[in-house]
Amino acid sequence: MTQARTRLADYDTAQTYTATVVASERITADTADAEVRELVLDVDRPDFPYKLGQSIGVLAPGQAAFGQEHHFRLYSVADLPELGPAGRPRIKICVRRCSYIDHHSGEEYPGIASNYLCDLRPDDTLQLAGPYGLAFEPPPENAANIILIGTGTGIAPFRAFVKHLYAECREKVGRLWLFYGARSGLELLYMNDHRNDFTQYYDEATFEAFTALSPRPNWADPIGWDQAIAERGEELWNLLADIRTYVYVAGLEPMRDELDKIFSTLAGHPDRWQRRKAELMAGGRWVELLY
Ligand SMILES: Cc1cc2nc3c(=O)[nH]c(=O)nc-3n(C[C@H](O)[C@H](O)[C@H](O)COP(=O)(O)OP(=O)(O)OC[C@H]3O[C@@H](n4cnc5c(N)ncnc54)[C@H](O)[C@@H]3O)c2cc1C
Repeated sequence: MTQARTRLADYDTAQTYTATVVASERITADTADAEVRELVLDVDRPDFPYKLGQSIGVLAPGQAAFGQEHHFRLYSVADLPELGPAGRPRIKICVRRCSYIDHHSGEEYPGIASNYLCDLRPDDTLQLAGPYGLAFEPPPENAANIILIGTGTGIAPFRAFVKHLYAECREKVGRLWLFYGARSGLELLYMNDHRNDFTQYYDEATFEAFTALSPRPNWADPIGWDQAIAERGEELWNLLADIRTYVYVAGLEPMRDELDKIFSTLAGHPDRWQRRKAELMAGGRWVELLY
């Protein structure tokens, strides 16, 4: 398993190619604050070397800070790759329309690449680079305990991963726990009334999903992991001692501190948790995709 933390400027964007938007659908309810869209893209590169868990690079037009002709951002591929009717590789990404607050002026600005992507419509084209980074690989042994912890668009790589595990290496799954956190129930992607397709490809005997919502569903509020994770704390802590247990974490950076806090409590002391986590990471049993 890989544990890559690379700066955006380090990615190789020398080779780019075109993709065409086949569909763009909002996958959060209209009443949800967050707009997350699933984009289906046909890639104009027959040998597109995509592997499970990788991200693609999007080159959004517009002058960037260091003189580049574009703004480069990464997006996880949200499904297993397939071929479109014209025989071109077809991928899906799920994009949250972001905005950010300028700390000096207090003004809110739209995120550049996410708004560009969310505004694209069928038949529009865009420039891609990559794919990059093999974030998640199935555990090496069979009947493993697989624990997925994600927030928001962090569900995208998990969706492809879970589908791959059950469709192509079912023997790897002893049990699979998915902890998924969101600001509100309306923002639980692929697991809400509007779109609940997670249920189509797991096996009920081994799969369990636990959702955690923010107690105060505002933009930078922490997710209420306490209930979802802490309620199963003892079992989870015992599972971490089992060498067949693999933890995969995906979503926004603040998750790292939120999870460290919870796991420090389970461990009894922050230092004990940091030592445990370092061992798990060194053994490829704790893998993070945080952005
Ligand atoms: C390996 C990797 C995989 C990624 N996969 C996805 C993905 O599958 N879907 C996705 O939407 N984004 C994903 N991202 C984040 C994405 O690359 C962009 O950072 C994001 O879309 C914001 O870019 P922007 O140009 O719109 O915003 P910018 O103009 O760069 O502004 C950034 C602001 O948006 C916030 N922000 C960044 N990402 C998110 C997010 N997903 N949800 C909420 N707030 C965010 C930042 O904290 C910051 O305040 C991934 C990043 C990495 C490194």
